[in-house]
Parts: sequence; C-alpha cells; structure tokens
Amino acid sequence: MTKIAIIGAGLSALSIAHLLKDQARITLFDKARGVSGRMSTRRASPYCFDHGAQYFTARTAAFQTFIQPLIRSRLIDRWNARYVKFDGEKIIERKDWRNDEPRYVGVPGMNAVAKHLADGLTIHLKTKIASLQRNLDGKWQLLDESGSVHGDFDWVISTAPSPQAAELLPTTFQYHDYMRGIEMRPCFSLMLGFSEPLPIEFDAAHVTNADVSWMAANSSKPGRPHPFTLVIHSSEPYAEAHLGLDRDIIAKHLCAETSRIIGLDVATADFKAVHGWHYANNAKREPHQVLLDRVNKLAACGDWCQGGRVEGAFTSAVNLVEMMKENSL
Ligand SMILES: Cc1cc2nc3c(=O)[nH]c(=O)nc-3n(C[C@H](O)[C@H](O)[C@H](O)COP(=O)(O)OP(=O)(O)OC[C@H]3O[C@@H](n4cnc5c(N)ncnc54)[C@H](O)[C@@H]3O)c2cc1C
Repeated sequence: MTKIAIIGAGLSALSIAHLLKDQARITLFDKARGVSGRMSTRRASPYCFDHGAQYFTARTAAFQTFIQPLIRSRLIDRWNARYVKFDGEKIIERKDWRNDEPRYVGVPGMNAVAKHLADGLTIHLKTKIASLQRNLDGKWQLLDESGSVHGDFDWVISTAPSPQAAELLPTTFQYHDYMRGIEMRPCFSLMLGFSEPLPIEFDAAHVTNADVSWMAANSSKPGRPHPFTLVIHSSEPYAEAHLGLDRDIIAKHLCAETSRIIGLDVATADFKAVHGWHYANNAKREPHQVLLDRVNKLAACGDWCQGGRVEGAFTSAVNLVEMMKENSL
C-alpha cells in the first residue's frame, strides 16, 4: 500500500486522510499539542474560547454532504447569532442569523470537528517537521526538530500555511516559487472571560475603521455552558504592524479599542489572554491550481489554495485527492 506522510492535522490534512484512508497508509505530523490547527479551542477553566475560526459556511454540495453526519451527531450546530456591523463606534447593520445563510460551529468547541475526524488515524503530535530528504530508494524521510527521522514515505503532502510550506518543502518542488508568492496575513486573538455577562446587544460583530475587526460572545454559541466570554480579533494591519510587541501591550490596546466601540469597560475581565496567529488568512481570496508534483511525489494543500476559510480547507483537500486518484496516487 502507498505510504503517505501529511504535515499538519488541521481540517485540510484530516480531510485528505479520510478521503484516502482506504487506498493508502497515512501518517500525520503536527507541531501542536492537539489536532485542529486554526480551528482550535482554548480552554482556561472555567472559560472556553474558539480563538481561530469563528464559524463557517457550507456553500458547495460536497461540503454540505460532508458535514451532514456531524450535524446529525450534534458535533456541528448552527449559530443563530444576533449579528451587527460596526463602523467605528456606530452600528450600521443588524441581522438575525436565524433567518440568514446558516453559520456553523463545532460543538462544544470548534475543535470538535477535527477531534472527531482524527479518531482512528495515526497522528504524531508535538512533532515539528524541519526538513525532508529522499533516500537512495527514492522514498521520503521527514526530519523533525529534535533530530528524529520518520519514514519511509512514497508521498509527502504539506498542509501548513503557504509561507511555512515554502520553508519546509525542497526547492525542487515544482510549485515552490508559485507557492512562495501566496501571501498570508496575521491576526491577534484576544480572549476575555467574565464572571458576569456583559449587557451587549449582539453575539457576533464585524468592525471596520478600528484596530479590531471582529467581536464575538463566544459563550453564545450552541453547547457552551461556560461563563460569559468574548473573543476579539484585531485588524490585519494592526497585527502586521505589532506582531513583535509584548502581548500585555497588545491586550491593553485591544481592550481599550473594544471598550471604545461597545461603550463598556472590558478591561475588568477576570481572564485575559492573547494569541498571535502569524498566518491567519489569505491576503487575496482567489483560488489556486492544485499543487501536485508527480515527479517528486510532493504536494501542498490547505485553505490558502482555495482563497482561505474552513470550507476552502476542505475543498482544497477534495481537489488534491481527486487529482491524486486520477494518477493512481
Ligand atoms: C483568527 C482566525 C479567524 C478565522 N476565522 C474564520 C472564520 O470565521 N470562518 C472561516 O471559515 N475561517 C476562518 N479562519 C480560517 C480557518 O481557520 C482556516 O481556513 C482553516 O482552519 C485552515 O485549515 P487548514 O487545515 O488548511 O490549515 P491549519 O488549520 O492551519 O492546519 C495546518 C497545520 O499544520 C501544522 N504545521 C505547520 N507547520 C508544521 C510543521 N513544520 N510541522 C508540523 N506541523 C506543522 C500547524 O500546526 C497546523 O495545525 C480563521 C483563521 C484565524 C487564524
């Protein structure tokens, strides 16, 4: 059976593993402590935060079919949020997502989706792959940062964000230059936990003309019996300009921005933490070709191949697997 190594254990990696598990022997590697990648959930008892992806839509028939069993088993549910759009401090739009396109979330946390998909797969966590080498038989070996060698594999598929994949995959990869040109942007995620709910009139909000781009009452999502929590995302320009700054300073600034926008002091939160996502989202939303190099038996995949977003991660996996199958792996 063909042996495939997949770098990453986010949605695109787990989708590839599921789509190929009957045709290949698959091993996944992720540098993180758990699966999910940018669909992760941070627990800080008694609080709980989806600090990456906030919700997702399902616009293609393939993704709708894929999520149906997870909806039936209540691992995915609709988030019927009271949605508003802020321009600075002014609300310029209101919507009830109950009557709008469905927005879905994992239950009880966004990471429930990946945890379910990971069941039964061979996954090496806390294993950061540093480089790849080919042995004399033409098989790939993966070197992790502790110096351990993992192999041998017929194929290696990277699902890391494009700048990290460009660092990792050898320059002989046919699409190396192309992939290097696909830019991704950073984002800060501020997590705030409160012992008492704040009297806000929305559950989800996009924000323009501020250093904050998104505000959500995470505890308003279905299946989250936790105390009141807010997840605040910075704007991309703010994150880009301040990535190296001390996280306490970032927290203070994003708290001040949020307080200004909603007119309530959020600096009183009982729990505060900041996470910096270096490669949160695509700079541009356009889809790219499937990056499959048959000669070197290497591929790169991920949301960034399909313009970003959760559904893009799934679609990129489907497109890659279809092309691999056309070529009998
Ligand atoms: C702040 C934020 C908000 C977002 N909001 C939304 C939203 O509301 N809706 C939406 O649809 N999408 C949203 N997204 C995007 C969404 O999270 C992603 O599109 C999707 O999760 C990407 O999945 P993926 O599998 O392609 O990549 P990832 O989830 O990033 O998986 C890649 C994995 O590769 C691992 N990795 C990287 N390098 C190595 C290495 N060298 N060795 C081992 N492992 C490695 C990483 O640890 C990671 O787990 C958001 C993302 C962020 C960060």
